[in-house]
Amino acid sequence: MTAEARILVVEDEEPLRMALVDALRAEGFEVLEAADGEAGLALALAEGPDVVLLDLMLPKRDGFSVLRALRKDRVDALVLILSARGEEWDRVQGFEYGADDYVVKPFSIRELLLRVRAALRRGDRGVPGLQLDPGRVRVGAALVDFAAYTAERTDGGEQVGLSRKELDLLRYFLSREGEVLDRATLLNEVWGRDDFPSTRTVDMHVLKLRRKLEPDPEQPRHLLTVHGVGYRFDRRGSEG
Ligand code: CA
Repeated sequence: MTAEARILVVEDEEPLRMALVDALRAEGFEVLEAADGEAGLALALAEGPDVVLLDLMLPKRDGFSVLRALRKDRVDALVLILSARGEEWDRVQGFEYGADDYVVKPFSIRELLLRVRAALRRGDRGVPGLQLDPGRVRVGAALVDFAAYTAERTDGGEQVGLSRKELDLLRYFLSREGEVLDRATLLNEVWGRDDFPSTRTVDMHVLKLRRKLEPDPEQPRHLLTVHGVGYRFDRRGSEG
């Protein structure tokens, strides 16, 4: 199925763009190309590619701005950032905006093809861009490993342990991303009848998850309070 994947190359350096386009076509991918950020964004929105290879320093609109706009529009293409060595960029920022991987220039075409295939394999397992590999999910700047019961922050935070219930709650939030969920629903779906929790239990677990996953637990971007109702989950993080 990867042979039919559609890939958008957004790169202003023409020799590199042409080399990428040729190599990807030779591998059987359907390839779209753009030489500046605005054209790249327009093509991505119009064509819904499976993968976007996104240069950062681009005319008209830089790569981060393209990435933000894509994620804001809920385009969930896998995005691989192409960054020049020494270029002013922040890997963490890239991941917070929803980049799936990055490749530092100069890279070999072979390496890039491997990365594209790896990204497609991961994407095939779930919502594109959601899963890194089985059991690992990125929530903003945190990488949650469901199998290991841990979360690791890519913004320099330490690895922390997560309880089974915290993971159950997070899994439920992931399955209902973007919806407003009231406490009774959360209690019912996540706790069921296995003990006698109160809605306070939900709040406590949300607080714990915030402390472990949110860059600033006081200003949550992922586990959002909906006043008077409950919570809403945003994996990529609401724009602050
Ligand atoms: Ca460039």
